[in-house]
Amino acid sequence: MRTLYMNLLKRLRRSSPGTSLEVVHLAMRLAEHAHYGQTRASGEPYVMHSLNVALILANLGLDPVTCAAGILHDVLEDTEVKSEELRAKFGEDVARVVEGVTKINKLSFQDDHVTMESKQAQNISKMLVATAKDLRVIMIKLADRLHNMRTLEHLTPAQRERISRETLDIYAPMAHRLGISSWKWELEDHAFHHLEPEKYKEVARMVAMKRREREAFLIETVAQIERGLKESEVRAQVIGRPKHLYSIYEKMQHQGKDFEQVLDVLGIRIITHSDSECYNALGVIHSLWTPIPGRLKDYIAMPKLNMYQAIHTTVMRENGLPMEVQIRSEKMDLVAREGIAAHWRYKEGTKTAEDKLENQLAWLRKMNDWLKDAGSQDGMMDTMRQEFKLSFIYVFTPKGQVKELPQGATPLDFAYMVHSHVGQHCIGARVNNRMVSLRYNLQTGDMVEILTSKNQEPHRDWLDVVVTGRARTRIRQRLREIGELAPIEEPKPVEVKPRAHPPGRVPVKHAEVREVDEATRQKLIRIEGIKGMSVQFAKCCNPMPGHRVVGYVTKSPGLSVHREDCISFQRTAKDTRRILTAAWEGEGSFTAKVRVITRHRPNLLADVTNVLRPLNIDITSASFEKTAPDRYHFDFSFVTPDHHTIEGVVNAVRNVPGVFGASQLDVKERQGAHMKDAG
Ligand code: MN
Repeated sequence: MRTLYMNLLKRLRRSSPGTSLEVVHLAMRLAEHAHYGQTRASGEPYVMHSLNVALILANLGLDPVTCAAGILHDVLEDTEVKSEELRAKFGEDVARVVEGVTKINKLSFQDDHVTMESKQAQNISKMLVATAKDLRVIMIKLADRLHNMRTLEHLTPAQRERISRETLDIYAPMAHRLGISSWKWELEDHAFHHLEPEKYKEVARMVAMKRREREAFLIETVAQIERGLKESEVRAQVIGRPKHLYSIYEKMQHQGKDFEQVLDVLGIRIITHSDSECYNALGVIHSLWTPIPGRLKDYIAMPKLNMYQAIHTTVMRENGLPMEVQIRSEKMDLVAREGIAAHWRYKEGTKTAEDKLENQLAWLRKMNDWLKDAGSQDGMMDTMRQEFKLSFIYVFTPKGQVKELPQGATPLDFAYMVHSHVGQHCIGARVNNRMVSLRYNLQTGDMVEILTSKNQEPHRDWLDVVVTGRARTRIRQRLREIGELAPIEEPKPVEVKPRAHPPGRVPVKHAEVREVDEATRQKLIRIEGIKGMSVQFAKCCNPMPGHRVVGYVTKSPGLSVHREDCISFQRTAKDTRRILTAAWEGEGSFTAKVRVITRHRPNLLADVTNVLRPLNIDITSASFEKTAPDRYHFDFSFVTPDHHTIEGVVNAVRNVPGVFGASQLDVKERQGAHMKDAG
């Protein structure tokens, strides 16, 4: 413990020279006293954990106050120490941060009805709300989780599984969002190790094998680049980029790629002395090998949301294999590894406390944008979802702010993004100082200026001009207010009529509406993400099988099902994150195709079919193909009424020993709906 503490002090003296470490000594004394007699599952004194958390923070270059709060992070929750004592001894700052961490720890997954996906978003949201005042709280929580993951082997299998899952779903993405890639990789690899020990070992073995095989090639490549850089007088360091085990596994699982495909791509990183030398280095790479079109990404000019900056390019090697090259300066490299922490440190010397706060707030705003994204993904709202899948463009406001819009966005989308009033009264737009049509396709880098007039009102055809859900909703709202768009008819209960589908949707042939009793109705309803939970059917529109329906999370705990065209639903459902996709059992079905990547072993196919048997799926075609020595693709198609089944199939197959990955290949158009007999 002595050594650990000395390390901590040494690290702090180096990163914060001249700063008093009194607060750290004081924290150490209190924690040691408070946790006295407590031990961790490993048998170590508890305070070792506190110290390790502080050391993780210090290694990221965080200041003594944050590290002191790190040492104290568990005292409120696990010992007799009270907030007042912290306040008196350490001041408001430390006390508030420790309270924040304690608050996060108290958040728990209470609702068993909600699946992981929405749980995740809920928790991230709770977490952010609980901690929005200070990012240091999140940093400490992440450091806490990192140390817990490092020492996870001492817990029971059930605990290991739960904590690893949570780490993958919440904390690793969070570290990524904060740009702390070193924490992200480590969290993921630990979680992978505990969740899939067999597969982890397998991937590790393959990587080691591959590495030996390719070592000579890598060394030659690095030397070749170094020569090129030297000739062009670029000061830079060249490294073969290590691949993280979990990211390899993820690529295999979700992109249906083989080990070979993932590992054959050589990764090179060039770290230049100055920012401007990045572009020179890029020139050197592109003169050595042919760049693959469309693969050049300039994150220096357009940094990622988490402040990541670099140039990425992929070139074709003599051996016909692609090679990914990342180029960044030393400063950018630090930001890439340490994210917000590095960013903080850079500002520290030059700027005032207010600037630091401003920086923090900018980060939080980005986190909140991210939360909205996460929410919309979770909410399953179709339009939002489509928006999420598209790639984005970045345009400038006249004041030089950058706005993110989906590809295909028009000046009208931009106007509604600025403010709904700007959208409502938009009469024209100038892009790069030239008048353009409202249908103009905005491009990254465009400077957009909106012209407005008080007397302008939205037109009906604006609905065809915009691509963002936000603009569309606002236009429709306004059109209804001014009587340009007929309000949706007040629905009469159990009316049997062909229903109109909202504009922009692919028409789906639908079943006829039929009236059923309450029990059958309950049995037939399916809500995405929710299993076995009783739901309320809205009285206002009385949905019956055959109606197109949506689920809505209500304030009083529960879920109500409305008809999608229900006017009262459309009026009240303002929070799109609370809208869930719903459907009736047996209405419509489609063919799903799944690819399984396996190695060869006896009885493998039998085992695959065995895990599928309880799922009761109807396999319509299958093929088995050898793609590499000891590597097979097993593709099969089946008819399914819903997406849960596909998920179930993919997950079941992934767990078969010898299977490296499984993923859905494509979904064909929904086939004509057919009704199942109501039992
Ligand atoms: Mn802890």
